[in-house]
Amino acid sequence: MPTIFSKIVAGEIPADIVYQDERVTAFKDIHPLAPVHILIIPNKEIATVDDVSPEDEATLGHLFVVAKEVARKLGIAESGYRLIINCKGDGGQEVFHMHMHLLGGKKLGSMLAKS
Ligand code: AMP
Repeated sequence: MPTIFSKIVAGEIPADIVYQDERVTAFKDIHPLAPVHILIIPNKEIATVDDVSPEDEATLGHLFVVAKEVARKLGIAESGYRLIINCKGDGGQEVFHMHMHLLGGKKLGSMLAKS
């Protein structure tokens, strides 16, 4: 079964795509946690960071280049932003198609909620 994010890559379900090329797709998070909240994903389905392999290195490096470009395009390059990748249960991962969150547009506070 393709993941919901693979369906977005394939154009089978709608998303507000801000960048796409042959290796990665970036789109607005449907439940934004900040004024700017973008998900940047490899087009190839990699379930979690724990499933990354050496052959993915170029694509995963490209995620960072795209994150930088999207941040600049959306006007948060100078003010700053946070990149987050959740992995599995304790990491809070809900969609098992690896993705990078790009968050910004306000002061984001401490890195982890105190609990
Ligand atoms: P994570 O908890 O790291 O797996 O994050 C999954 C993120 O995907 C959440 O922030 C969701 O709001 C977001 N999300 C789930 N479905 C969609 C969708 N169809 N379009 C955009 N974002 C989505």
